[in-house]
Amino acid sequence: MGRSTLLSVLCALVLAGCAGSAPEAARSKDRLLRVAAAVSAEPSAGAPAPGAAAEEAADAHEHEDEVDEDGAEVDDGLELPVDPGAGTRAHSPLTAMTEAQIEELLAKDPAALGPMSVGATNAGALFNGVRMPESDRWELVDPGHAWGTRETIDALDRAIAEVHRQFPGSPKLYIGHISARDGGRLSPHKSHQAGRDVDISYFLDARHRWYQRATAANLDRERTWAFVRALITETDVELILIDSSVQRLLKEHALKIGEDKGWLDEVFQYGSRKPRPLIRHARGHANHIHIRFYSPVAQESAVRAYPLLVKRGAIKPTAQYVRHTAKKGQTLGSLARQYGTTVEAIKRANGLRSTAIQAKRVYNIPRPSSGPAAPPKHVVVPPRRLPPPRAAEASPPARHDEAGPAMGG
Ligand SMILES: [Zn+2]
Repeated sequence: MGRSTLLSVLCALVLAGCAGSAPEAARSKDRLLRVAAAVSAEPSAGAPAPGAAAEEAADAHEHEDEVDEDGAEVDDGLELPVDPGAGTRAHSPLTAMTEAQIEELLAKDPAALGPMSVGATNAGALFNGVRMPESDRWELVDPGHAWGTRETIDALDRAIAEVHRQFPGSPKLYIGHISARDGGRLSPHKSHQAGRDVDISYFLDARHRWYQRATAANLDRERTWAFVRALITETDVELILIDSSVQRLLKEHALKIGEDKGWLDEVFQYGSRKPRPLIRHARGHANHIHIRFYSPVAQESAVRAYPLLVKRGAIKPTAQYVRHTAKKGQTLGSLARQYGTTVEAIKRANGLRSTAIQAKRVYNIPRPSSGPAAPPKHVVVPPRRLPPPRAAEASPPARHDEAGPAMGG
């Protein structure tokens, strides 16, 4: 009796202490679920690859942890169509090696082949991944799932360093999932499979927590914009997912400090009709930024070594998906018949718990797995989207005047 009374008093105290409102309580609960799911979905120590048991554990937790604070699933699986336009074809040291040389290294010293980002970010794998190091500039939320390519790790480090150069003594960022050690499916995400996707916090005001929602009241616009700007101008970023509400705050800030409007319209999806914006809205990204980097060397190495990696059993053949936008009236059954696959396979490829699908949403449809999977495609890195030179030279961190783009250059 006394014990249960004490318990309920404690519960009430805890709730009163950490949750002033019902949504806050829901968010706390959600965070706990995330932590629990992350812990239990972790493959047992030393397991070389997530086996069937780990997969099942991850699936079992999907229902809890795919829900973000708005009650929507984290939608980070966007795959952009390859831009046939200009770009730089990536080069890897493996390109100059013979198959026999690669195979010999694979057998004797696989690490010497360097990191490889295999296949699509929503159906890929990571070989020879590099773990994000510890630092006093960030905190790894889940160190066991912070593996990326060398290029991902370096790019992230570089963009964060730029913020610290402009704003010495900046607070720590939280770095969430990058990829599992060997890549592959990582709940609750659709992507994060090939060492090129990173979840990271916004810079918020003091005492911020991981997965705290960025708002007009708490967003540190100067540091967050400096970070996003560095990602765009100093690294090979493929896309950045930021909720529209936060894009608005950042874009308004960037305009206010005199960034070029034409450039901002190309970069932000918010408030622009330009095609192929780098920063896009996706559900579940008001409380963290999702960054996808190109990893030209690691991707090209994977293209070169893929058949040998599969042949030697170093990786499983990566899944090949067709992207299908559901139309009204379509069901998983009709899609399965149309593409010659099964309802279960489609559910699995999209992390679906039920057979309900929604019109206009895009689904991964697995291609029938008869015959060898096609090797991954070569990667072409588009040119960086840089602001006009004048704005690039004059990028003082703290310009608060309303100066428009000064004309004359
Ligand atoms: Zn993500």
